[in-house]
Amino acid sequence: MDFNDTPEEAAFRAEARAWLEANAELRDPDERYAGILQETERPEKLKWAQEWQKKKADAGWACITWPVEYGGRGASSIQSVIWGQEEAKFKTPPPVFSIGIGMCGPTILTHGTDEQKARWIPKLVSGEEIWCQLFSEPNAGSDLAGLRMTAVRDGDDWVVNGQKIWTTGAQFCDWGILVTRHDANVPKHAGLTYFVVDMHSPGIEVRKITQINKATAFNEVFYSDVRIPDANRIGAVGDGWRVAITTLMNERASIGGGGGAGDPVAELIGLAQEIEIDGRPALEDASVRQRIADFYIKRKGIQYTSYRTLTALSQGKIPGPEASMGKLVGAKLMQEMGSFGMDLAGVAGSLNKKSAPGDGSWQAQFLAAPGLRIAGGTDEILRNIIAERVLRLPPETRLDKEVAFRDVPSGSA
Ligand SMILES: Cc1cc2nc3c(=O)[nH]c(=O)nc-3n(C[C@H](O)[C@H](O)[C@H](O)COP(=O)(O)OP(=O)(O)OC[C@H]3O[C@@H](n4cnc5c(N)ncnc54)[C@H](O)[C@@H]3O)c2cc1C
Repeated sequence: MDFNDTPEEAAFRAEARAWLEANAELRDPDERYAGILQETERPEKLKWAQEWQKKKADAGWACITWPVEYGGRGASSIQSVIWGQEEAKFKTPPPVFSIGIGMCGPTILTHGTDEQKARWIPKLVSGEEIWCQLFSEPNAGSDLAGLRMTAVRDGDDWVVNGQKIWTTGAQFCDWGILVTRHDANVPKHAGLTYFVVDMHSPGIEVRKITQINKATAFNEVFYSDVRIPDANRIGAVGDGWRVAITTLMNERASIGGGGGAGDPVAELIGLAQEIEIDGRPALEDASVRQRIADFYIKRKGIQYTSYRTLTALSQGKIPGPEASMGKLVGAKLMQEMGSFGMDLAGVAGSLNKKSAPGDGSWQAQFLAAPGLRIAGGTDEILRNIIAERVLRLPPETRLDKEVAFRDVPSGSA
């Protein structure tokens, strides 16, 4: 592992930093949870996000690893990491494009035809079109291959019926990636077909879901006889699982952990200096110091583990399933630190927003963490991945793998 930039990487970092300094303001370290998009501020934040994306695209700083012909820069993965590290230091809009850029674009670039790439990728890069991911259903989350939304071929179109759930951003997206079941007579993984769907199509109804932190980021999405042109199919009929795996691999790589932006350990130390226990700063209490030291050690562990991924990227390799560890440990740590910040504040810890010590950031962190522990693979699923693919332990018993999907017991009549 080498933690230092090579001369080329340092030059690239300086170039990125110079552009950012000329085009954005340095981030306010207190605004760690500005990322939660509340409904009232959505139009204004969406506009800001689209303008920022366009500005980056015009200057060649958007989707930098993507091919130049589709609006990218043809940069390396390590350059993309460096760009991300530098951009994170600046005040930027909420991550409206994270699904489109993190999952949809890479899937289309891998499995799409040249026409599909030319139609969708440039407008994704420039932020003109926003994307969502329509995978999960009420009975298919961890077991995604058990999904039940149907797609039936009708001439040049497919007719789609069913329900998706937890669809982040569906209420303001233009396009979505959708996995459907076109054949229930074959085993569950073999009967899936993958599409891009126009979210403005007739027959789509989006209903918002309010989360514990009052955000309405995700939705239920109902499909009633929605027509999708066959030209929007990604991959072959029946190839949906293979295409979906590309999306999921990119999803896990793009969801981080470790407690959000900034340095939450330093912030906890600051809070413990302000708050008093028995007339003395909480930081002088041995149990408080012990907890903060534990958090510091875990953060460092995640940081150094992530350097392995960076080293692999720097050497042109693809990071392995070890990347699951960062999310598994980081999301839990985020929840524990939020809880500890609230505990330290005593009775005031039950307050929210600006009236609470730390401007409500500990409360926001505590309420956002459970979602992070579920999205993109729950803690248990990530443990299974680590057990099977990193530690090479025997796989889970999967009784439904070889059975025709229609014969898998569903619990319904
Ligand atoms: C903030 C957030 C945003 C999301 N955004 C999107 C989105 O944009 N698009 C989308 O399609 N989905 C989205 N999701 C859905 C997410 O992918 C699913 O919630 C996730 O895959 C888990 O599925 P589930 O909720 O159906 O839970 P289930 O799969 O029903 O799991 C329930 C419990 O059982 C455990 N479990 C399940 N299977 C196993 C097993 N084999 N071994 C051990 N334990 C197991 C799980 O760990 C969990 O504790 C989002 C979720 C969240 C929280």
